Amino acid sequence: MTDSIYFSPLLPWQQSLWTQLTERVLAPPHNLPHALLAAGMAGMGKRAFVWRFVAWLLCHQQASHRQGACGHCESCQWLKSGTHPSLQVLPLTSMPLDAEHENAREGAKSNHKKSNSSNKSAKSTSKALVTIKVDDIRALQPFIYQGGQGLRICVLDYAEQMTIAAANALLKTLEEPQAQVHLFLLSDTPSKLLPTIKSRVQQLPLQHIEPSIAADYVQQALGVQQALGVQQALGSTINREIVSPEQIKQLLQLTNGAPLAAVALAQADWYGSRALWLTTWQALRSGKRSSLAASDYWQQQLSLSDFIKLTELMLLDIRRINMGLVSIQNDTELPKALAQHKPTEMSMQGLVDSLQQIKISLQQNIQEKFAYDKLMQALAVL
Ligand SMILES: [Zn+2]
Repeated sequence: MTDSIYFSPLLPWQQSLWTQLTERVLAPPHNLPHALLAAGMAGMGKRAFVWRFVAWLLCHQQASHRQGACGHCESCQWLKSGTHPSLQVLPLTSMPLDAEHENAREGAKSNHKKSNSSNKSAKSTSKALVTIKVDDIRALQPFIYQGGQGLRICVLDYAEQMTIAAANALLKTLEEPQAQVHLFLLSDTPSKLLPTIKSRVQQLPLQHIEPSIAADYVQQALGVQQALGVQQALGSTINREIVSPEQIKQLLQLTNGAPLAAVALAQADWYGSRALWLTTWQALRSGKRSSLAASDYWQQQLSLSDFIKLTELMLLDIRRINMGLVSIQNDTELPKALAQHKPTEMSMQGLVDSLQQIKISLQQNIQEKFAYDKLMQALAVL
């Protein structure tokens, strides 16, 4: 077996949908919808589900491997080598290569050390800017309309990135379903999809996850990973209770209940730096540390984009506490710090403006040092 996304384990909250869809394929009248949409925010596992299902649909041993593609037949081999003749993927950069690649896109994962973080952020920026053009959709037509060639599958990832012309071209295809052709659309922001597209595809119910199932999954995923780390370090026995239920609740609250995003958040360097952020803020405010020194320090710790995420989370909670609401984070000293000093609405707006400006200039390759200096100056007067 490989760790490729095509053959990764089914996520616990997807089992009933999996059974439902595979039964529709295997049992008469074999009526799997022509076009399916997997939509919803990142971190729910919709890409993992779709790629796994695509692999199974194409697998030559599907009847005897109902829980997922066999991993050995000719079709599965083609998938592994990225050369399946019956699969077309748009945008071209979306072809999954391995599970890590997928996780990086699906979750808010950023547990990468500083050394490769700038490379990472450049990569994710280019993904976000990708568009699906009308020529891309037209290039699919021969594949879709060739006829008599057995099952064919098209996957359109980031479907919301279609231009209007591309969406209209796709609409024609959706209106003329072809035998043995299935289209899968994926979207993190389905609100940006044309209503006419949405009305012609069947949406997969992937975005509702029972809170208890989500919590169990996060507990299991983090518990096992932490235990493996401990085991490697100490050779000790596995302890699955390392992550507390409160911590898991907080992680899920911060990721709107998306389990994969919650696991990625727990592993993100920036999430682990919240106490340090608080220390820096207090040192800057009291004048114990200069903004330049703080800037130098943080440049070694986190990429600028991660520091922005960290600052945004802290600001969100500062706002909540200032309004008399309960802090989302129960594991920081933030309420204590705010009891000593409450930032004014104006100073918070100043920081928000700085963050906004820097985010815009990040796309124009701003110097990280310059941006970090500016942010630390804004933090010093918060
Ligand atoms: Zn197979």
